[in-house]
Amino acid sequence: MRVTVVGTGYVGLVTGACLARLGHDVTCVDNAPERVAAVNSGRAPFFEPGLEEILTGAIRDGRLRASSNTAAAVASSQISMLAVGTPSRQGEIDLSYLSSAAEEIGKGLRDGSQYRVVVVKSTVVPGTADTLVRGILERVTGRITGEFGLAMNPEFLREGSAVADFLEPDRIVVGEWDLASGRAVAELYQSFECPKIFTTLRNAEMTKYASNALLATLVSFANEFAALCEATPGTDVEQVLNGLFLDRRLSPIRDGSRITPGILAYLRAGCGFGGSCLPKDVAALRHFARGQGVGSPLLDGVAAVNARRPAQLAALVEGAIGSLHGAAIAVLGLAFKPGTDDLRDSPALAIIRELEHRGAEVRAYDPMISAVAGLTVRHSAFEAVSGADAAIVATAWPEFAELDWATLSKAMRRPILVDGRNALRHAAIPDDMTLISIGIGPEHVKEPEGATLVH
Ligand code: NAD
Repeated sequence: MRVTVVGTGYVGLVTGACLARLGHDVTCVDNAPERVAAVNSGRAPFFEPGLEEILTGAIRDGRLRASSNTAAAVASSQISMLAVGTPSRQGEIDLSYLSSAAEEIGKGLRDGSQYRVVVVKSTVVPGTADTLVRGILERVTGRITGEFGLAMNPEFLREGSAVADFLEPDRIVVGEWDLASGRAVAELYQSFECPKIFTTLRNAEMTKYASNALLATLVSFANEFAALCEATPGTDVEQVLNGLFLDRRLSPIRDGSRITPGILAYLRAGCGFGGSCLPKDVAALRHFARGQGVGSPLLDGVAAVNARRPAQLAALVEGAIGSLHGAAIAVLGLAFKPGTDDLRDSPALAIIRELEHRGAEVRAYDPMISAVAGLTVRHSAFEAVSGADAAIVATAWPEFAELDWATLSKAMRRPILVDGRNALRHAAIPDDMTLISIGIGPEHVKEPEGATLVH
């Protein structure tokens, strides 16, 4: 099919490149000229594993191109997808990018007799597609919905594994204005064999929020227990959660082997949830719930637990060295999670603000990020920890567990390491280094041998 994807960010470009790989003819549109130029030269404007390879192949084979002219691309496409950002504006969803992109799409739908479908892929609060988007399209085209199609197809990909997530989806959810709209989207995804749900536009919109709200809730649940354990001598959140996981309703036993569902990865103590989606989606849903007159007491708590976590991490560092005033602290990891260079709402940045607020001088290192405005970023973990009074792991990059900690500890002024992600529990840490794992109570009572997880 001929497809236009408006918005060439993580979702738009991965969608465009993967659809081209599936054999569709795709135009990716963006109003940032440097993004258009990068894509046309086969370069991804951001890091995402496997993306550049697919992108280069699709451009070379003539199945993908980028443009800044939305209306022209839409006019010659059967399907036009809205994949622009829907950020947070003081907690409320900011639909201004979506509105102006919908205006441009509307212009492309004005002429011609061909049936074309507009698909909202951006995450939007329920009612956005059938009120805001529909209203703009009807006004600009002078046509009524039905003459053109309208669908809502939320995206569930995760940064860091976006290409694999797109090409092997768990499910495809399609909200449809009418049967013809849904049929067009079904044709787009016909090569996928996963379950496909065809539903109302609003159910599709709500499904995306339900998914992200659950993930955020699991993270805050684990972090509430982490904070509780940090205040309770003799407790360790890892052992508590491992005990929880062995409930066979959470990790079922099939053919004699225990299955560890991927969702349990969210039920782990850490620095809190961050990134481009969970914080703003939880905020947008809470705002939406208030507008619906029902509120969201559970998600209010989820957000509150998350907001407290960076200060709890900074307090662990402070407790370990006495005072942060004038102390040099190395922060290892800046991205909101490993496998990406995305800094949006990264807990690492919130921790840095807390450390600096308490008087620390911060130097950071991240394998994927070489510069951040207003922050000293070093080229290696060794450079970051040299002369530091303490180091804190803020992103669980696997390479941090592989570092030569014996050498690094000698380069530090004080060999104190706070493992904000519990990623170094099995790393080779020298005896002269103090390792402070999160979620462990003060004066932790040593467990007898054999008390660890039984597989
Ligand atoms: P992004 O900020 O990375 O990309 C958005 C792109 O849209 C930018 O390149 C921007 O220049 C472009 N843009 C803005 N207005 C435009 C216009 N009028 N015309 C053309 N281009 C325009 O955003 P993203 O992370 O890809 O997210 C897009 C949507 O998908 C959001 O609603 C987000 O919540 C949702 N989503 C994101 C992820 C994720 O992991 N990033 C996952 C699932 C869903």
